[in-house]
Amino acid sequence: MSKVIGLTGGIASGKSTVSELLTAFGFKVVDADTAAREAVAKGTPGIEKVREVFGDEAIDENGEMDRKYMGDLVFNYPGERIKLNEIVHPIVREIMEEKKQQFLKEGHNVIMDIPLLYENELQDTVDEVWLVYTSESIQIDRLMERNDLTQEEAKARVYSQISIDKKSRMADHVIDNLGDKLELKQNLERLLSEKGFIEK
Ligand code: ATP
Repeated sequence: MSKVIGLTGGIASGKSTVSELLTAFGFKVVDADTAAREAVAKGTPGIEKVREVFGDEAIDENGEMDRKYMGDLVFNYPGERIKLNEIVHPIVREIMEEKKQQFLKEGHNVIMDIPLLYENELQDTVDEVWLVYTSESIQIDRLMERNDLTQEEAKARVYSQISIDKKSRMADHVIDNLGDKLELKQNLERLLSEKGFIEK
């Protein structure tokens, strides 16, 4: 019987790194960030709806959503964030559900990579939740390095989410990513063998 695992964590806690490792063990990954981009890709009903609600300024010269413009808008005006989510979320859910069903039909175990799983209360859409854990100070360091941010900017992003400690208490399994990438791989293999996904 195939399983659907919701993979979550905090920003820059290591979800993409874990997803990548899991594909090597035969899991298929459905990624919420990719679905969110597909939902408002050029020429889709999603992007037309964005244009209708937010105007031509919301669309860039390639016919795609102007992420910088919309990012600033929703960061500064929470009401606008709600409006954008009302357009994008139902489409994202549909895209992810379709991909999930396809993979299940093919007999695969599926990883749903959903950064804001708890913030959007999606825990009931998966069989179990695995959380990639690291400390807030490591999150901030990795975020500064990966996205070329100041410490202030990185902190603002980390603190805008439910804290990783709180999330880790809600998760079914916690994957420790406090160490280096080799340790992360070993921690993941231990969980996979405990859960019977790989031989002990
Ligand atoms: P986001 O939510 O922002 O998409 P994420 O949770 O998917 O982030 P990753 O992109 O996997 O996180 O990791 C964040 C950054 O930290 C990446 O540059 C990644 O290479 C690095 N990283 C992840 N795990 C480790 C580790 N154990 N040691 C060193 N660097 C790591």
